[in-house]
Amino acid sequence: MNKINYQLALDKIIEENQKQQKVPSLLMHSCCAPCSSYCLTYLAQYFRITIFYYNPNISPETEYKKRVKEQIRLIQSLDVKYPISFVEGTYEPEKFYEMAKGLEEVKEGGIRCFACYKMRQREAAYYAKEHGFDYFTTTLSVSPHKNAQKLNEIGLWLQEEVGVAYLVSDFKKKGGYLQSIELSKKYDLYRQDYCGCEFSKRQRERERIAKEKDSQKEQKCIANVSDCPKEQECIAMEKNSQKGEGMTTEVWDIYDEEGQRTGDTMVRGIPAKGQYMLCVHVYLYTPDKLFLLQKRSKNKISHPGEWDVTCGAVLHNEESIEAAKRETLEEIGIDLSDSVLQYAGRIKKEKRFIDIYFVQKDFSLDDCTLQKEEVEDVCLVSAEQLLNTQETDRLREEHYMRLLKKAIQDVLDS
Ligand code: SF4
Repeated sequence: MNKINYQLALDKIIEENQKQQKVPSLLMHSCCAPCSSYCLTYLAQYFRITIFYYNPNISPETEYKKRVKEQIRLIQSLDVKYPISFVEGTYEPEKFYEMAKGLEEVKEGGIRCFACYKMRQREAAYYAKEHGFDYFTTTLSVSPHKNAQKLNEIGLWLQEEVGVAYLVSDFKKKGGYLQSIELSKKYDLYRQDYCGCEFSKRQRERERIAKEKDSQKEQKCIANVSDCPKEQECIAMEKNSQKGEGMTTEVWDIYDEEGQRTGDTMVRGIPAKGQYMLCVHVYLYTPDKLFLLQKRSKNKISHPGEWDVTCGAVLHNEESIEAAKRETLEEIGIDLSDSVLQYAGRIKKEKRFIDIYFVQKDFSLDDCTLQKEEVEDVCLVSAEQLLNTQETDRLREEHYMRLLKKAIQDVLDS
């Protein structure tokens, strides 16, 4: 079934209201200050918003109170066009536990969550109806852990049941999640590391312990940690291949320290001392100068769940420009065969060279077909947000950042 782009639908509603010079009232259900930060700065230009804080799912009560406090502090700190009000719903965890009975072990993102979305959205819908709001909505779609299609289906269904308009949204689509991270830093907001209920808290704890164990195992194999998200997978593959397990046919050319092919090849792994391999980084951007970031699958061995650009190794007898096109098609389903790729330069690192490409393409996130085992999500971000991600989250070195800043400036000036 085709997914609906709810961000486009929201754009149209805003445009229509603006044409009619209307500033409608909006009851916005919020789960926490960080998630609401982007939604508020974005929508308070077009709506008179009241935040409705109804979250009986949050446990323990101290955590609930902490989130309420942060929500109020954020509202008071924001400098927005139309003032924002705040209403707290009833904290009634027993209702959540009643709803979640039998679903305690369901993983986050499953049917327990759908029921949880519905419970909170329904309360917001009835409050909006009783108090004469033009629309109701929720901030939940900003989170990459939340199912935007489901949230909107539920909202539209409640619109019929209750008789108040639901404002559709997919706040992730315009880089809302990354912006919420930046706004959280700006306003020094408390950011919890679990969704809200005790089941999600336990799940996060289990994941944290498993990740720690994995990383301890990996640290034993790797003398120095690399910034290459694929290097640890290469090590794992090399080991499997030595054991005869999971043999890979990916073959690379070996390069010398000047970046010239030596004529020798190697099976995917880590180049021997004095040898180098070649990989590519692809910076894809729209005519509006928004850059694509892709989120690595949470099942990846290294850097799971991190945001990055498309990257990969250049294969035997392949030119790096061909690899850039191939990786982009494989990982996110965007065909660059007719596009002009701009070569931004080459970076030399220990054991590898990186060729960096920039390419403009008129596309939307809906055009992306994600290779699920590699990529979990995609978003479009501004140049500033892209630089921030590469510098702060991916910890690129100074010479990489210098080259990147220059190339991005060229894009912005073009
Ligand atoms: S994980 Fe989050 S959305 Fe799912 S049931 Fe728990 S609190 Fe609700």
